[in-house]
Amino acid sequence: MSAVAPVETPETAYIWAGYRAGQLRLQLCDGCGHPRFLPAYRCSACGSPDYTTISSAGAGHVYSFAVTRRPEELPLIHDFPVIVLVELDEGVRLISNLVDVAPADVQIGLRVQAYFDPVTAEATVVRFRPVSAS
Ligand SMILES: [Zn+2]
Repeated sequence: MSAVAPVETPETAYIWAGYRAGQLRLQLCDGCGHPRFLPAYRCSACGSPDYTTISSAGAGHVYSFAVTRRPEELPLIHDFPVIVLVELDEGVRLISNLVDVAPADVQIGLRVQAYFDPVTAEATVVRFRPVSAS
C-alpha cells in the first residue's frame, strides 16, 4: 500500500517537524495558559495572539471513536479501521488512529499513548496505542 503524505503548510510546519522529531507539539497561550493543538492566530479563551510551543507527554484517553466497516473500498483506512478522537491529558483533542486493539474492544475512556509512524520519507504521523491497565 502506498502512503499519501499529509499536506504541510507554514502554519502547521511545527506540528509535522515535531512528529518527525518524536514530539507531539501543542501551543500554550501566553495570556491564560489555555492549550490548543491545531494552530490558531488567537487564543479561543482570552484572545491573546501569543503562545509558547510545548511537547505533550502523548498520554490521554479515547473521547470518542468510529470503526470503519467497509475498509476494502478505502485502502488507506484498511490498516487503521479504528478512528479515535483522543483527549490528551493536557486538555486538547485530536483525531487519529488507534492500533493494537480489536475494534470490538475499543471503549470511550480507554487510556492511550501516542507513537510516531513515518509513513513516507518526509512525513511522520501520530497514532495511538492502548495503555495496558497493569
Ligand atoms: Zn488565552
